[in-house]
Amino acid sequence: MSSPTPENVVIVGTGCAGLTSAIYTARANLNPLVIEGTLPGGQLTTTSEVENFPGFPEGVDGFMLMDNLRKQATRFGARFEQASVTHVDFTSHPRKLICGDRTILAKAVIIATGASPRMTGIPGEKELYGGKGVTTCATCDGAFYRKMDVAVIGGGDSAAEEALFLTRFASKVYLVHRRDSLRASKIMADRATSHPKIELVWDSVPQEVLGVAEGAVSGLRVKHVHTGADRVLPVKGIFVAIGHVPNTGPFAPPLPVDDGGYFKPAAGSQVKTDIPGVYVAGDCADHVYRQAITAAGMGCQAAIEAERWLAEHGG
Ligand code: NAP
Repeated sequence: MSSPTPENVVIVGTGCAGLTSAIYTARANLNPLVIEGTLPGGQLTTTSEVENFPGFPEGVDGFMLMDNLRKQATRFGARFEQASVTHVDFTSHPRKLICGDRTILAKAVIIATGASPRMTGIPGEKELYGGKGVTTCATCDGAFYRKMDVAVIGGGDSAAEEALFLTRFASKVYLVHRRDSLRASKIMADRATSHPKIELVWDSVPQEVLGVAEGAVSGLRVKHVHTGADRVLPVKGIFVAIGHVPNTGPFAPPLPVDDGGYFKPAAGSQVKTDIPGVYVAGDCADHVYRQAITAAGMGCQAAIEAERWLAEHGG
């Protein structure tokens, strides 16, 4: 069933980019409809303290920041609906967003679907994911591992942040990285490498999550990249923090994506696409900066572009 009248602007996603677009388009009296997927509030709701979002000298809780952005958008009239866009039809006006058996019509569309955690794909990871010992969110699950040994896989800021957060609960945190230095920013790397509860397991690639037969993680087998030696880390929890995969599938095609699956904006713009009235913003279109503040900036740009486009084309 189609909506009787097209929405002015439909924003897909409720992370920093989507909610910033919602604030701007709502303040412009466009009465935006915001489609909220499986992780309302986006990635920041699974992080702990955000220390680098401007305006918060003491840092801010990720969940609280997103809740505030949502309240701000709601105050200006943004409407929220839970749905999952499965595919789109951008060949005619209004644009069509298909959500299962429902079709939403939109004069302008802002896609801000973010990115999802990347997994290693090693044996045992899938079987023991979610409640059985493998997770991607220390903030959500860290407290379950009080006085236990855990492993974090990865070498970037996420891995360092997860490892540091887990030291609040775990007896010991192994930080497993496939190289001999962290990719994380210096401040985070220094904190992680000097923490007495964190053991760096350098040059090691995860091979298998142990414990499938028992239905709970009992260890992580890793292989040294130079010596080939196997080592089993006796952990009860494994936190995978190896980056993200952009959530662009339902929109590509028709929108073009690069080799990593990120949206490729139109030449000369960060947020315009080659399809008039369709914009992209945030981590689904940014493989370079991937910060909350840059996502918010892109959300603002997309909203202003959508507003101008609607003004010119009968919004
Ligand atoms: P990232 O920077 O892409 O790091 C991913 C890490 O996982 C890399 O060290 C990579 O190894 C490793 N890796 C990738 N695939 C792997 C595999 N299959 N097996 C084992 N290891 C694998 O991702 P991120 O840490 O999620 O950070 C993403 C962005 O968000 C960055 O720009 C980061 O600065 C930002 N961020 C900022 C903060 C903060 O400022 N508070 C917190 C979190 C994230 P290699 O090093 O060998 O490539």
